[in-house]
Amino acid sequence: MTPDRHDLAVIGAGLMGLSVALEARTRGMSVVILEAETCARHASSASAGGVRSLNRHPAEIALTRAALPLWEGLAYRLGRDCGFRRSGQIRVAEDAEAMQALEDRATAIAALGFDHERLVTRDELKARIPAIADHCLGALVVDDDGFADPLATAHAWRHANARAGVLIREHTRVMSLERSTAGLRLATAAGPIEAGCVVNTAGAWGDRIAGFAGDGMPVRTAALQMIVTARMPAFVDPVVGSQGRKLSLKQTAAGSVVIGGAYKGDVREGPDGPLRGVPRAGRAASNLANAVSLFPALRAARVTRIWAGLEGMTPDGLPYLGQSRTMPGLFHAFGFSAHGFALAPLIGPLMADLLEGKRNNHAIAPFAPGRFDSVGSV
Ligand SMILES: Cc1cc2nc3c(=O)[nH]c(=O)nc-3n(C[C@H](O)[C@H](O)[C@H](O)COP(=O)(O)OP(=O)(O)OC[C@H]3O[C@@H](n4cnc5c(N)ncnc54)[C@H](O)[C@@H]3O)c2cc1C
Repeated sequence: MTPDRHDLAVIGAGLMGLSVALEARTRGMSVVILEAETCARHASSASAGGVRSLNRHPAEIALTRAALPLWEGLAYRLGRDCGFRRSGQIRVAEDAEAMQALEDRATAIAALGFDHERLVTRDELKARIPAIADHCLGALVVDDDGFADPLATAHAWRHANARAGVLIREHTRVMSLERSTAGLRLATAAGPIEAGCVVNTAGAWGDRIAGFAGDGMPVRTAALQMIVTARMPAFVDPVVGSQGRKLSLKQTAAGSVVIGGAYKGDVREGPDGPLRGVPRAGRAASNLANAVSLFPALRAARVTRIWAGLEGMTPDGLPYLGQSRTMPGLFHAFGFSAHGFALAPLIGPLMADLLEGKRNNHAIAPFAPGRFDSVGSV
């Protein structure tokens, strides 16, 4: 069979693949995006949708801050609402030890030259969120963080790609990758494809794609759990987390409360690797109990759905961003370790710059694909 030829083939149509594909197409490349299942089937639609620069690993702060203005303009760029709201994000201290940890964090971040995270007192916290439990002592906030609707965002990106002329091939799993005279050759369930370059945005399966090229890039799959309640009267505006507990909580414009906190369900394995996540009811109950501790009003909440989404977790919790050490033309952008949603609008331009060999201001050395090589990072 004669292979289809494209300037770029993107492997995986989660938000990262959709972001890279659209940006590359906008810069004039012919692009095919190959998705084993359906667009945004995994982490990208399971996501809590938090757009958070608060309490980030120092290596990721500059990227998340750079992504924020892109979120602001995303609905315009994609031609559809993504549900993005600058609600703020807030990390609450429930005891003196937690308050001390937040104060230490604020000092450390200020020493690095960042001023977006700010401590608030107990009184200011209560004034901002009257429904919060009385024992809370204060918090760390970022006022211009927020959240978006993951499903609306994925739909918007998918449609924008289709409109821009990106070829979207769903149910087309990439089964191998090798060098060819035209660049790289991919074997897929629907036949061979040739591309000048390839971006691996295969999420929890990214290590398998990297393995085709001989790049050893460790990833562990986690099935991260979420809970959503029936609509409730509005009681909280910002996204709320806790310094001492596993909790992240937000209320949507419709009134549902979306609760997460990195509780892990089970990973079901299939012949091609992780298949789906299965939530554990007992852990959902613990998650809910954490939420009730901060917001007693949630005792009356009715849970309508729990789910678990598969995410690729790297050993240091930072993504892999950069070119393959072994296969020129192959680039990696995976392993977002439970906090990639916030970065999605930036990953397209960042990776497109790498594809074009352009310099930009983003410090991506901490995300080097080879950083866990036994011989040292590349
Ligand atoms: C429950 C949950 C809550 C989260 N909450 C937040 C949050 O509040 N804020 C935040 O910033 N981040 C959050 N995240 C993380 C964020 O959602 C992810 O980091 C991000 O969506 C990852 O996108 P992705 O495109 O890399 O991966 P995915 O969306 O998983 O996409 C990878 C795609 O690759 C496809 N694929 C795999 N193998 C192949 C192959 N061989 N051939 C073709 N296609 C293939 C898969 O089918 C999949 O569709 C959360 C994640 C989860 C699971």
